[in-house]
Amino acid sequence: MPIGGKKQPPEANEFESVVVHSTISGRPWQLDGHWNRMFEQRVIWDYDTEGFEQISALDGGESLEWCYRCGKCIPVCPVDLVGNYGPMRLHQLVQQGQDLFASDQAWLCTTCMNCLRVCPKEVNLIKVMPAVREVAVTNGNVPAELQDVFEKSFRYGNALGQNPKRRAAWAKGLDVRQLPDDPAPVDVLMIVEDYWSYHPRGQEAARAFAQIANALGVDWAILGAEEKTIGDSQRLAGEKGLFESLMEDNVATLDRYEFARIVTPDPHGYNALRNVYPTYGHNYEVLHYTQLLAPLIDRIEWNRSLDYKVTFHDPCYLGRHNGEYDAPRRLLESIPGLTMTEMARCRENGYCCGGGGGGMWLDGLTANHTTERLSERRVREAVETGADVLAVCCPYEVSRFEDAAKSTGNDQLKVLDIVEMMAEAMFA
Ligand code: SF4
Ligand code: SF4
Repeated sequence: MPIGGKKQPPEANEFESVVVHSTISGRPWQLDGHWNRMFEQRVIWDYDTEGFEQISALDGGESLEWCYRCGKCIPVCPVDLVGNYGPMRLHQLVQQGQDLFASDQAWLCTTCMNCLRVCPKEVNLIKVMPAVREVAVTNGNVPAELQDVFEKSFRYGNALGQNPKRRAAWAKGLDVRQLPDDPAPVDVLMIVEDYWSYHPRGQEAARAFAQIANALGVDWAILGAEEKTIGDSQRLAGEKGLFESLMEDNVATLDRYEFARIVTPDPHGYNALRNVYPTYGHNYEVLHYTQLLAPLIDRIEWNRSLDYKVTFHDPCYLGRHNGEYDAPRRLLESIPGLTMTEMARCRENGYCCGGGGGGMWLDGLTANHTTERLSERRVREAVETGADVLAVCCPYEVSRFEDAAKSTGNDQLKVLDIVEMMAEAMFA
C-alpha cells in the first residue's frame, strides 16, 4: 500500500527450507525455497495463438478466447455428461493447436446454451459454433449425414426429403383450413414444421392439435404445400446461406396472406421466427403452441381423467433460449387425473435431448465420442422419477425418446406430446 505517497516494498520473509504437513495424510513434506523462486521472466510460448486468431476473426467467434478456464461450464454440459466436452475443453484444444474447422469436436455441441447460462466470461457457443461450422461447411468438412439433410432441405424444403406436395397429408379427414385454397384473413397461422408434417408420430400430435384448436374455436389455418422448413437447426449447424434462402421463400409466402399471429409446435422454428427473423427486418407475433393453448384452458371440456404419472422434458429452445417454462406445465397440470413429477435436471438446468444445433442428424458422429446418446441419458433420468409418461412439446423429441426408451430397455415408458394427452382426456 502506498504510505505517504511512497510504495513500501514488502518485507522479504524467505527460508532456505520448510517442512509442511499434508492436510490429508498428515505426512511431512520438505519444501526448499529455491524451488519456489522465479529466476527469470516466464514467457508462454508453448501455445500457438493462430487458432484463436482465426476463430476470433469470425463474426460470432470472438468469445471463445475469453475463456479463463474456471470450469463452470463442464458439469452443466450435457455432452460432457456422456463424454468429454464443453467450452473449456474446446478452448484447450484450440490452444493446443487443434484445427477446430476440421475436427469432429466442432459438431458435438447441441447449442443447448447451458454453458452460457453459467459462464462468468459469457463465452457464447451459440454464436461460436455456427461461425466455426460455417467455415467447415465452406471448406467441405461436413459430416455426410448432415450434408444429406442440407441437400434435402434445399431440394424439398424439409429435412426429411419428403414430397413438398404431401406436407398437409396429416390433415386428411380433419377440418383444417389451408390458406392456398382459402386465402381469407385468419387469426392464427400455424407453421407446422417438418416433423409434425411428415414423421408418423409427429403427425399424430398434429392431428391432436387440430382437434383441440377446433374444439376451442381457434380461427387458424396452415400453409399446406406452400410451407417450407424454417431451418433454424440448419443455420446453427453452419448452413446460414441455406437458412437465408429458406427465409426469403418463407417471407414471400407469408407476405401473400393476412394473419395476426404465427403459432408453431417447433421450438427451433419458434426461436428463429422470434429472434433471428427480426434481425433481417421480418417481425411477426410468434407463439409456441403451448403459449396459444395455455390461456384457453378454462374453455376446455374434459371428458375423462388420465391416470398418468408424468415428467416433462423442457425443450432447450423453448426453455433456456426463450424463457418459457410455465405454459407446458400449466397445460399438463390442467389435465384431470394426471400427476406431475420433475426430473432433477429441469427448467433452466434442463438436460438436452441431443437434437439441437444439428444434433438431430448427427447421431452417427456423436456416437463415436460419447458413451451413450443424450436422449438415452434423459430417458434414464425420466425413469428414475417413477413416471410412466415422458411428456414433450418439441417435434424432435418423440422419436428420439421413443428410440432411447427401447434401446435402454425402458419400453414401459410412454413418450407423448402434451397435445396427445390433452386430446385423449378431451375426446377419448
Ligand atoms: S464457464 Fe466460461 S470461462 Fe469458465 S471454463 Fe467454461 S467457457 Fe471458460
Ligand atoms: S451449448 Fe450445450 S452442448 Fe454446447 S458446449 Fe454448451 S453446454 Fe455443451
